[in-house]
Amino acid sequence: MSTQITEHQITNDGHLLIGGVDTTKLASEYGTPLYAYDISIIRNQITHFKTIFEKADVKYQISYASKAFAILAMYQLINKENIHCDVVSEGELYTAKQAGFPMDKVSFHGNNKSVQELTMALDQKIGCIIIDNFYELDLLKQLTQERQQSINVMIRVTPGISAHTHEYISTGQEDSKFGFDLNSGQADKALEQILAAPYLKMLGAHCHIGSQIFATAGFVGAAEKMMDLLIHWQADFDFTATVLNLGGGFGIQYTDDEKPLAPEVFITSIIEEVKQLSATNNFPCPEIWIEPGRSIVGSAGISLYTVGSQKTIPNVRDYVAVDGGMGDNIRPALYEAKYETVLANKMNEPATHKVSVAGKYCESGDMLAWDQILPTTTAGDLLAVLDTGAYGYSMASNYNRNPRPAVVFCDEGESKLVVNRETTEDLIKLDLPLE
Ligand SMILES: *Cc1c(COP(=O)(O)O)cnc(C)c1O
Repeated sequence: MSTQITEHQITNDGHLLIGGVDTTKLASEYGTPLYAYDISIIRNQITHFKTIFEKADVKYQISYASKAFAILAMYQLINKENIHCDVVSEGELYTAKQAGFPMDKVSFHGNNKSVQELTMALDQKIGCIIIDNFYELDLLKQLTQERQQSINVMIRVTPGISAHTHEYISTGQEDSKFGFDLNSGQADKALEQILAAPYLKMLGAHCHIGSQIFATAGFVGAAEKMMDLLIHWQADFDFTATVLNLGGGFGIQYTDDEKPLAPEVFITSIIEEVKQLSATNNFPCPEIWIEPGRSIVGSAGISLYTVGSQKTIPNVRDYVAVDGGMGDNIRPALYEAKYETVLANKMNEPATHKVSVAGKYCESGDMLAWDQILPTTTAGDLLAVLDTGAYGYSMASNYNRNPRPAVVFCDEGESKLVVNRETTEDLIKLDLPLE
């Protein structure tokens, strides 16, 4: 699943290709830093997920978690693949709408949705709102009552499963800001209130146990707890859920040391668990929804930078600085995320030097990658950080008043600009002078 660079992805003169396009040409045409995507990887990944469900012969839905990468062109691309998407804000919903994404295929998540966001969701008649807490449930009851408008809902449940991942991206444990707690009975209380609300059409339950998960145990454990819940709802509340949404979080390979399981391993074991529990409990097998974000876009994208200054501290470390950093990729600073890098203009040269790749931002923590083995690096070289397609652009900021990079989609040797590079004028667009 990682950007495994093979010979056919390198030109004869040693340039890295993405989607069949020479990265050095991308750099000269669009400038750096630049996010470049091979969109065939996105399409293949979606097809791969679909195939797993179709082979297992279960009802399913794939809902792309758009927070991983949410731009007009991405919503259009996934719409062509005929899948659903999740949004978590007014801005994402607006972008999806402007992209022409069918609103009935959108689910809305979030632990503090505003009245304005819920109203927009109702105005747009989106597919489903995933209710996170009692405050939201009350708001939604009130709004739907006033408008006399029905809406499909699910509730987000914290199943009490802690996925083995970084603390900040683990969400399924009891002590989490997300969702109704299962063990203390909050989920049952929420169900009762929804069933009593005339305009809320309950589909089922949702959970999302975390991100960048590498082991099946967490997913299978969550599936089991969620199926227990649905079976209990049928027995004790006479409510039969039609949807079981098990969230996203499927890990991808960022470095050579990581060995993530292929998605079919995760998903097949989830499907088997749900099927088996349905059969043994005489429960109609629910439609299984998943919400992959990272695993759809992560490996499709790379970040291209121009090398500038270098610093050697004798017997300590060699630093190579590039023209981007934590403003376009916050993950190393935020999560200690690890990446592999290559010199995109010197792919055929022997990698002999150990260097650490620094960003240009005024923070010591602004490092993109430590201890990379690269060919001899000189100013003007093109450095690529691999597998930055998820949570790169979507988490980008204007820290230090650096404009955000452009984004290009590459496919079959052609490139297309899908996000303009921000300009310095853009940076002061919202500022107002004192006098
Ligand atoms: C972030 C998120 C996802 C996607 O997670 P990935 O790790 O990108 O697959 C799915 N569902 C919910 C509710 C999320 O918050």
